[in-house]
Amino acid sequence: MFVSECLSANENGHLMIGGCDTVELAKQFGTPLYVMDESDIIKNCKLYQESLNRYYDGNGLVLYASKAFSCMYMCKLMNDLGMGLDVVSGGELYTAWKAGFDMSRVYFHGNNKTDDELKLAVEHKVGTIVVDNVDELERLNRIASEKDVVVRIMFRIKPGIDAHTHSFIQTGQIDSKFGVALENGEAIEAYRRAVEYSHLKVMGVHCHIGSQIFDLEPFKLAAKVMMNFIGDLHDKLNIEIEELNLGGGYGIKYTEEDQPINYDAYIQAVSEVVKQMAQERGVNLPKIMMEPGRSIVAPAGITLYTVGGVKEIKDVRTYVSVDGGMIDNPRYILYESKYDAVLANKATAPRENVVTIAGKCCESGDLLIKDIKMPHIEVGDTLAVLATGAYNYSMASHYNRIPNPPVIMVKDGQAKEIVRRESYEDLLRNDIL
Ligand SMILES: *Cc1c(COP(=O)(O)O)cnc(C)c1O
Repeated sequence: MFVSECLSANENGHLMIGGCDTVELAKQFGTPLYVMDESDIIKNCKLYQESLNRYYDGNGLVLYASKAFSCMYMCKLMNDLGMGLDVVSGGELYTAWKAGFDMSRVYFHGNNKTDDELKLAVEHKVGTIVVDNVDELERLNRIASEKDVVVRIMFRIKPGIDAHTHSFIQTGQIDSKFGVALENGEAIEAYRRAVEYSHLKVMGVHCHIGSQIFDLEPFKLAAKVMMNFIGDLHDKLNIEIEELNLGGGYGIKYTEEDQPINYDAYIQAVSEVVKQMAQERGVNLPKIMMEPGRSIVAPAGITLYTVGGVKEIKDVRTYVSVDGGMIDNPRYILYESKYDAVLANKATAPRENVVTIAGKCCESGDLLIKDIKMPHIEVGDTLAVLATGAYNYSMASHYNRIPNPPVIMVKDGQAKEIVRRESYEDLLRNDIL
């Protein structure tokens, strides 16, 4: 009935998540409110882990890309599930460390890690650094030698694959700020240099071909191209690669139009490609790493808002204004992303009118959903925007000095606050008068 599997309606016609009535949650915690279903997150992680066991003898690791949604509770949950973690900044790294994450299972990404961030990573014994370029290689080796440690590394490679997705969130072609390119020899040259550094140990190769991808083919092609590169490293440089990290990017269902790939089928297909290519190129079977972010958390999350006004502009448009917007969900203003919404207190009412859901910020582009068919909406209704578990909280801003909403984790009818609502005082914390 709803785009996300974790949602249902109760006998009062209220939207339910994790055994909790969303109308009650809105009353108890206030709005705007991020709500995440813990069981759904756990289920999504296990799906990847079990498929990796089934098709590849568990020879690898599923890393959660924490940029999708990072907080201490989430890091702890991922640690307890035996997931690895992908971090892209000192802040994400520090969050994981503070939450007690096993740092040996952390992979540190980013196209411009500062010296301070690299030092933080080395000091906290981050398992693997995914090096973006040769400048970073140089800096990392210096930092590792100062601390007298050997750091495990892999390079981020641009495999030159065009995954059909929104161009703003597309990576993997040669014209990208991320990684070293295959086709012009930049990548092999980077490895030639890397093996000469005394404080770096080359472990693997990495690629990430985009986000919100719906086709299986680009993933299979990426695995093939990367296995050929592993073959080249073996033949030309005598480097034995142990880990193949294929990144994330698995699409999810935001609206009924979206048809995500079956993640199990993905892992099966990729495992076959890797096994076949290893044989063809005469190299050892690498461990397979993958880094799903969005597909772990997006469907598990919703955002609850209170309707504050309905502005009907005759023959033009009806704007429904809610008490959040681009501060808690900037994905419409960034990418014109599409979302589905449900009137949480009338979840089963027929959808009769086309409206536009607008945020409260001082930008005309601050919309959440343009043109969506909804039941009759009144001031005071609770509106739920669906599939907001990824890249919402983590991309939130303080534009217009609006405090960020709290995050509530629900499971088996219980709700607990895992991130507190910000106060006005929080906004002023670093101001100096
Ligand atoms: C963003 C990112 C991911 C996660 O992508 P999703 O689309 O959220 O699955 C994984 N790996 C890297 C390197 C990324 O930049």
